[in-house]
Amino acid sequence: MSEDEMTGTTTSGTTTTDTTTADGAAGETFEERYRDALLPVFGTPQKVLARGEGVRVWDTDGTEYLDLLAGIAVNTLGHAHPSILAALTKQAGTLGHVSNFFASAPQIELAEKLLALAEAPEGSAVFFANSGSEANEAAFKIARRTGRPRVLALSNSFHGRTMGALALTSKEAYRAPFEPLPGGVEFLPAGDEQALADALAPGDVAAVFAEPVQGEAGVQPLSRDYLLALRRLTREHGTLLVLDEVQTGIGRSGHWFAHQAVEGLQPDVMTLAKGLGGGFPIGAVITYGPEVHDLLQPGQHGTTFGGNPLACAVALAVLGTLLEDDVLAHVRTVGARFTADVLALGDPLISEVRGAGLLLGIGLTAPIAPQLAAAALQAGFIVNAPNPTTLRLAPPLIITQADLDEFVAALPGLLKTAAPEGEN
Ligand SMILES: *Cc1c(COP(=O)(O)O)cnc(C)c1O
Repeated sequence: MSEDEMTGTTTSGTTTTDTTTADGAAGETFEERYRDALLPVFGTPQKVLARGEGVRVWDTDGTEYLDLLAGIAVNTLGHAHPSILAALTKQAGTLGHVSNFFASAPQIELAEKLLALAEAPEGSAVFFANSGSEANEAAFKIARRTGRPRVLALSNSFHGRTMGALALTSKEAYRAPFEPLPGGVEFLPAGDEQALADALAPGDVAAVFAEPVQGEAGVQPLSRDYLLALRRLTREHGTLLVLDEVQTGIGRSGHWFAHQAVEGLQPDVMTLAKGLGGGFPIGAVITYGPEVHDLLQPGQHGTTFGGNPLACAVALAVLGTLLEDDVLAHVRTVGARFTADVLALGDPLISEVRGAGLLLGIGLTAPIAPQLAAAALQAGFIVNAPNPTTLRLAPPLIITQADLDEFVAALPGLLKTAAPEGEN
């Protein structure tokens, strides 16, 4: 999510938690205890959630919500999915953690499965981490190992909040308080082929980082032509193409990885996280082919938790369920239908629906997205406003047409609440 929205524009923070369930100091609500015990980096939480099942969650007051955000594109199989529960309990009762002095079967199987799904060529390999930021940190270190000094990222990029990932993230408000950041990173206007060609021309660029659909920027897809130009020009100049599929990967776009919608677009490095563990923290880096394979030498990178058996067993259950239930075809079908249905509302406040599969941005003609997200929450729908003119939906991939219809039916009323006649 955009943490900005949480800190700046949440208008629905008036939860009245039943203190009898709060299980803490007398008379204190969860909200008060949160405020007193947690660092305020996320602002005021919108609700305190207690339980989830499928595409629904319940807060501590017992109010039900349709989860159209899935923890920001994370809960691939919704909440409390039986396959995740089974994999997690089985693995926890077998072998939970071993350190990377040792290997485990789930780790090896997951790596093999990811390489197969990525259609990665001979000589490709996987590094497991625990988050999107960490996956991008590893990719950044791989890029440095080329020996080239410059790294390119795009305008409106989001690659995470650790120092290296932040260095690749364009938003000034996120960066400025933490400078100096790791150096050598330059930002290019997304979509500008000429700027890309000019920047690559000196032949000293290690890597270009790009998200096929820029999620945090408000669900902004890079065009097919630009993506192909990225591939062609980086190859021409011996530069690595790093695709950050942390938000778009694992079926979210209706393909295993969003770049697979574009024929001939194979990155040199891909980073994954969010949807891979279906809620269990895990990140991954895939290097494509033998040339990238040995850039990181033994001892040059590591992690204690990355690739632990629990996370890998859960991720295997996620991938297995997506395959068995043919969820990707379902994502394409319901995503396209939802897009058509929202546009068919013909509401003058809706300008477009962007994205792919079930990563969707409803473009608004007025800056009412925060109010719209608040009205939606009030009405029992969890969505998010990554910027003032975009409502983002990234629901569990198992969401049904009927679930989505509920939101489409409610949307005109929500728009009226968010933008009362004459106020915009
Ligand atoms: C969320 C996200 C990240 C950061 O992932 P974390 O797990 O929060 O560190 C990086 N890149 C993209 C595209 C993301 O959407």
